Amino acid sequence: MAIDQTESNFEKLTLNSRVKLTFWGVRGSIPVPGTETGKYGGNTSCVQFFTGVNDPVLIFDAGTGIIKLGEHINNNYKNNEIHIFITHTHWDHIQGLPFFAPLFNNKYKIHFYSKNRSSSSLQDTIFKLIEEPQFPLSHQKWKAQIFFHELNENRLNLNPNTTIFTADLNHPWGANGYRIEYKNYTASYITDTAPFDLMLLGKEFIGSPPDPQSKLSSQEKSALKKIEKGVLELCCNSDAVIYDTMFTRSDYITFPHWGHSTFEHAFGICKEAKSRKLVFFHHSPRRNDHELDEMLQKYRQIASKSSLEIFAAVENTSLILDEPETT
Ligand SMILES: [Zn+2]
Ligand SMILES: [Zn+2]
Repeated sequence: MAIDQTESNFEKLTLNSRVKLTFWGVRGSIPVPGTETGKYGGNTSCVQFFTGVNDPVLIFDAGTGIIKLGEHINNNYKNNEIHIFITHTHWDHIQGLPFFAPLFNNKYKIHFYSKNRSSSSLQDTIFKLIEEPQFPLSHQKWKAQIFFHELNENRLNLNPNTTIFTADLNHPWGANGYRIEYKNYTASYITDTAPFDLMLLGKEFIGSPPDPQSKLSSQEKSALKKIEKGVLELCCNSDAVIYDTMFTRSDYITFPHWGHSTFEHAFGICKEAKSRKLVFFHHSPRRNDHELDEMLQKYRQIASKSSLEIFAAVENTSLILDEPETT
């Protein structure tokens, strides 16, 4: 059954000043253009927390979706301050960056944020990827003022209206989840992460699932508990949680070492955290529009007994955040 989400909560791209989450790229792993994925979209991860064209631009991840956003900023926005929060540097989260138009415009100040990693800095990783012979325009061709920030604390007061919180996720080589608090609005961005039961991921990519007979050590269990607690805190009472739902339950059982979550798990986290809206995200490149419609339908039915509303991220649309109740 085809589902239309555009009714009351979603709108097409506009520049009105409502607070919203705009989805520029919704896919995991690889871009998948084509007729089978045209409804939900084929670009890789990029989400904007939009508060108005006069405000600093807040962007989460720089997958191929950021390319269109870059043009949109150049053409429409009045503020020259851009903040880009990177979850981690797997290709699908940075591959649009070399084509992000504001990098080549000297009016912008662009701030990048990432996890602090002892092994490599975000700056080195990005600069290395866009050197010859990989790409003709190295960072020396960038005209914007660029600042790299490696987050040591899990809280960042960005400006008087905006605070960003971070926590670790369960993903090969690690990733950061984010929570954005803007005035009385809250949204959470949780991708990429595996659930917290079968494997502890992080230091390096583990090439195979664990032996079904093997058990987690008590250190692994407590590390997973800690990650889960951090994720629940990021999602606590959130107006909208964008969550990695790349996998079905059976995908997860087959590929727990890939570091991705399931519809069921995202639903459980959001219920426990008392979030108001859950947005399925980081759609599998193998899942077509029809299958995503079916997933959405199924989980909307399951959620109908709770107050949690379920959506799936659709490229080039925005999920409007409800006006907070004033007391
Ligand atoms: Zn990813
Ligand atoms: Zn990843």
